[in-house]
Amino acid sequence: MAPTVLFKAACPDCHGRFELAAGALRLAIGGTSKTTFYSFTCPDCGALVRKPAGERIVELLTGGGVSTMRLHFSSSSGE
Ligand SMILES: [Zn+2]
Repeated sequence: MAPTVLFKAACPDCHGRFELAAGALRLAIGGTSKTTFYSFTCPDCGALVRKPAGERIVELLTGGGVSTMRLHFSSSSGE
């Protein structure tokens, strides 16, 4: 039995504060910290919120069972 992990989050749109289960969050890991972010839909106003995720947050979210999406960037167009 895995305990339910809740993540505290806040909505910049309606300024609501709430706790989200791991299933309500999504984590996208890009090539750099600038393209690494987590997102969720505000349960209060329905806005899609996207926030940058630092190393610590990434660890926290992945450890809590949040589904992670790895973004791959093609470098075929040259530099
Ligand atoms: Zn909201």
